[in-house]
Amino acid sequence: MKFSVLTLFPKQVKDFLSESILGRAEEKGILSVNAIDIRDFSGNRYGKVDDTLFGGGTGMLMQCEPVYQAFSSLYDAKKEEKPHCIFMSPKGQVLTQKKARELSKYDHLVILCGHYEGIDQRVLDEIVDEDLSIGDYVLTGGEVAACVVIDCISRMIDGVLPNSEAYEEESHMQGYLEAPQYTKPNTWHDKTVPEVMLSGNHARIKEWKRLHGLYDTWKRRPDMMEKLDISSDDWKKLLQIEREKKEEENKGIPSAK
Ligand code: SAH
Repeated sequence: MKFSVLTLFPKQVKDFLSESILGRAEEKGILSVNAIDIRDFSGNRYGKVDDTLFGGGTGMLMQCEPVYQAFSSLYDAKKEEKPHCIFMSPKGQVLTQKKARELSKYDHLVILCGHYEGIDQRVLDEIVDEDLSIGDYVLTGGEVAACVVIDCISRMIDGVLPNSEAYEEESHMQGYLEAPQYTKPNTWHDKTVPEVMLSGNHARIKEWKRLHGLYDTWKRRPDMMEKLDISSDDWKKLLQIEREKKEEENKGIPSAK
């Protein structure tokens, strides 16, 4: 899969994505991230790409033409279809795991980053297919947001993680959160790993993970819980987990149960 990021700060994007899992995936040729400097398309000696706002208001706005030229450099309009273009914007639909999965099906994604006050609407209307936000807050630029989107999509591309189970069971993938996880040693600060985890019984482990994932969703994200259809049998089990946790707390025994 190919990502082309249109930005005024290509180094910020490349530096972030060249490390760790994504860096290795790029080395292996599973994905490629191309960061294009919009300033290279300024058309003037100073690399100036922004100007003051019509109608007043503070700050500077990125102009149409450099953005348009940078985008047009990515494909041959006569022979190729226009690549899918996402504009990072606090006005966009907020990124979800479902959305990332949808986007992972594209061969080529163009991600446009704004800076300063943003970008002249006219070029957005012409090249952008969808706006995407990473949350209801405002950043200084779209670069960090673009890295979040690329990171999230990439781990669903075959070959980036060791196997698809690595992400299939994760938080948000099935509509609920992941259960707590443990590694060695078995006992740490008097806290023991739940006995079932050491049992080697895969069916029991699977059920434990499912129920504790649901339990965490119930306690941490009631908004997600409301969307799940929990059977009365499962509710009984969740209430039982709650009772057990309360008992542990009352005993004052530290436990990871
Ligand atoms: N004036 C704009 C904000 C500009 S912030 C407004 O009020 O909508 C500058 C740039 O940062 C934006 O163009 C966008 O590319 C990026 N950005 C800011 N917040 C973001 C968010 N929550 N998600 C994605 N991109 C964001």
